Amino acid sequence: MSIKRILVTGGAGFVGSHLCDRLVEQGHDVICLDNFFTSQKSNVLHLLDHRNFELIRHDVTHPIWLEVDEVYNLACPAAPGHYQYNPIKTMKTSVLGAINVLGMAKRCHAKVLQASTSEIYGDPNVHPQPESYRGSVNPIGPRACYDEGKRAAETLFFDYHRSNGVNIRVVRIFNTYGPRMHPFDGRVVSNFIRQAIDGEQISLFGDGSQTRSFCYVDDLVEGILRMMNGPDEFVGPVNLGNPNEFSIMQLAQMVAELCGAPTEFIHKPLPADDPTQRQPDITLAKAKLDNWEPQIQLKEGLKKTIEYFRSINMSDFRAPTPNY
Ligand code: NAD
Ligand code: UDP
Repeated sequence: MSIKRILVTGGAGFVGSHLCDRLVEQGHDVICLDNFFTSQKSNVLHLLDHRNFELIRHDVTHPIWLEVDEVYNLACPAAPGHYQYNPIKTMKTSVLGAINVLGMAKRCHAKVLQASTSEIYGDPNVHPQPESYRGSVNPIGPRACYDEGKRAAETLFFDYHRSNGVNIRVVRIFNTYGPRMHPFDGRVVSNFIRQAIDGEQISLFGDGSQTRSFCYVDDLVEGILRMMNGPDEFVGPVNLGNPNEFSIMQLAQMVAELCGAPTEFIHKPLPADDPTQRQPDITLAKAKLDNWEPQIQLKEGLKKTIEYFRSINMSDFRAPTPNY
């Protein structure tokens, strides 16, 4: 395999840091670019001494001038509390970020992959969601800054591809969890684990009957790499996620059991526009990405994540926003 120079925007984040690990391990020359809005250096500290790893503090809403062969565009807050903290900035990060990486990719003929999302489908009325489903997004609700920003980014990717011949890939990522999630990001897996470890009541939004399908981070990163390295004829969009669907109540019970904590809930109102169900149809990913499918199921992945949360000192983590 030839060594490539690869840019990972959002590379210090939860998913980005695992992707950087894999790329550094493969011997590539990796540039991690991040503004540390929702992450901190500790996620990539172990990579700083590697001769093929470089870290740049930069904001993707400003132009980027680098010479690279490939770009993974992951920079964007992903947890609802994070992306709603400054919704206008979230939209700018998705849209201006996409324009900046696509412009750079066009100039230096790089291949560029966009980390899109299942939020493209909004609160879906087709279940499970195939890529052909066009979604049901509220364009003026509190999640719109993220959903519509990511939809606009997909549009920009396909227009740069059609109009300017940029070599693109688009993956739609469904709920992913694992070590290096920010303990105060407010996402359901991190919240429940932190609460169970600290002996707090588990915060259940609504009645807990809403569903999500949880993918372990290693499975996701494998899918992302296969997509980037697949044939140029298949640009996506392709769903990447674990199709095993759970209610949030089931997740809470499983986390409590694995942490050896009592299952005590504190009920909170369901946030506006919270999708009632979400499950990826991964038929296309299996067919196009060499039979890709998740290998690590929820219980096993949760055990690894709980182990990580037990190993960190929570007070070392700065809550990026008050939303936890
Ligand atoms: P994360 O918040 O841990 O990582 C995002 C990273 O982007 C952080 O390091 C953050 O500091 C950085 N960032 C944010 N705004 C930036 C800006 N303007 N300039 C430079 N860096 C910026 O979240 P994650 O879960 O690792 O998500 C990574 C990507 O995957 C995101 O694009 C997200 O939308 C997408 N995604 C993730 C999930 C999931 O469940 N984890 C699901 C769907 C899509
Ligand atoms: N949720 C919950 N308690 C929490 C955090 C989240 O019940 O402490 C619910 C939330 O309402 C949603 C689901 O868990 O239905 C997943 O939320 P998350 O923020 O992780 O991601 P989303 O898929 O909504 O973007």
